[in-house]
Amino acid sequence: MAPARQSAEQRRRDAAASKITGLCKWRISRQNRRPRGLSNVNETCYQNAALQMLLHLPKFIAWIMQHNAPGQNWPCAAATMDSNQAPPPKYSNEPAIKKLGAEGMGCVPCLLKDLIRGYWGDALLDAATGEPDALPPNHVCWHRLHQLARRWNYREPYNLPEILAGARKKMRRKLTAAETLKYTQEARAENMDSQQDSDEFFRTILDGIEKTYAHRTPVKAIPTKRKTQYDSLFTRTVVQTHTCTHCNYTHAVNSTDELGVRISAEPPGTPDSLPAAIARSLTDDLERGCEKCSTVKTPLREHMLNTKWLTAPEYLYVLNSVQAYDENGNVYKNRNPIDIPETLDVTQHMTMGSENNEHPDPIKVRYTLKHVVYHAGTTINVGHYVAGITQMPRSTLNSNPKDKEGEGGVKEWFCDDSQVFGMRNRVRGVAQGENVLTVNPVDVSTRMVQMTEFDPVMILYERIRTKPRSARVPRHKEKAVEGCIAQSVKNNPRDRQTETR
Ligand SMILES: [Zn+2]
Ligand SMILES: [Zn+2]
Repeated sequence: MAPARQSAEQRRRDAAASKITGLCKWRISRQNRRPRGLSNVNETCYQNAALQMLLHLPKFIAWIMQHNAPGQNWPCAAATMDSNQAPPPKYSNEPAIKKLGAEGMGCVPCLLKDLIRGYWGDALLDAATGEPDALPPNHVCWHRLHQLARRWNYREPYNLPEILAGARKKMRRKLTAAETLKYTQEARAENMDSQQDSDEFFRTILDGIEKTYAHRTPVKAIPTKRKTQYDSLFTRTVVQTHTCTHCNYTHAVNSTDELGVRISAEPPGTPDSLPAAIARSLTDDLERGCEKCSTVKTPLREHMLNTKWLTAPEYLYVLNSVQAYDENGNVYKNRNPIDIPETLDVTQHMTMGSENNEHPDPIKVRYTLKHVVYHAGTTINVGHYVAGITQMPRSTLNSNPKDKEGEGGVKEWFCDDSQVFGMRNRVRGVAQGENVLTVNPVDVSTRMVQMTEFDPVMILYERIRTKPRSARVPRHKEKAVEGCIAQSVKNNPRDRQTETR
């Protein structure tokens, strides 16, 4: 049998992804597709930036709108099972949580649906221009999502030891158990309304969605339809192998599901790019026993860990982890700028494009840059999050024929909490024809700060789907075009890979 051009699992997920939009009956109702500002309610810029990204993923929206929709068999998680009602029960009698009462005891997909309706709805529009106003603080469409996030954040802050040490110093003695509890509870309560990590919030939202459906069917333990749909959107499934550098023995270790890919830039001063950082993330070396050549004398052998992608998702989420450590073990924010390409090709990392299982013509896995969440600030614990958003495409989820393009053809928007503006003219140093989202760092004045550099931390790519030519070409022209394809394939065999799917 001829080798496949992509993994069977990839084919299954692609089939699921291609059906998602068609299942959705819901449509964006406002005509102006400009992003809507999101007010900052108690340091929520880290939530706003991540939510702007989610609110601009058409297939994700089409998918989440199926939650509780007629005939979809996707109900809310049972209350007893639902850990979205965080924090853990042990905190439920503490004052700050009691004060919250029933607020924010929510189902994440339900709360997201409310937000999507409010965000893309035709209320709160400027009477003269039709442009969307920012969602006000505590607006009904997202108030409960905020309250749920406050519950999630009812936990010890990273600096609790310093807080307790400060209290001890002030009292000039050891704290009693009751005093320690009191200070700890106060610190947890304060943490509810303080700045958090935007990536962590994004993951918690996705976790909350995953908790609402079964992942495996009880009988055959195969993935459920809902799980396959989720995975088709966000999950990168990888397979890992260990190779002994002493005897070359290679064996598969495991396959794991991951939300996109996590990269780290080289230390400051070393030029770096996102594709290079992804490639680095796929290999590692480690010491372990070798089944073939370990001896009593040398039980450990050096192994190469090699990661290949069994599947690539519709939306490739790249976390640029800026938390780094210097040679003394001190944490710092690594602001070394990586090059961010507009188009990213990961075909070489796929199992079917690998050196071991080389297919001469694997299906291309290519992405285009969509959204970037930026962080401004010199340390990782303080600062400000904003989002650079590519405007929602005209065709998707929007059947309104009067729909207008963005002001002056603007496609990329800078979303700084309640303030939204066209990015191209405000960012310094953008070359003609360059996608402004590839600029790193972004140097811009905002409501919060004057001319500050924003570092990309969360980068979102969308899979490029190339339709087969026959689907785009009128029937009577098919013959002629086929001739052209044959010609171009002859001239350049690589063309065929990009055009066929
Ligand atoms: Zn629900
Ligand atoms: Zn060995």
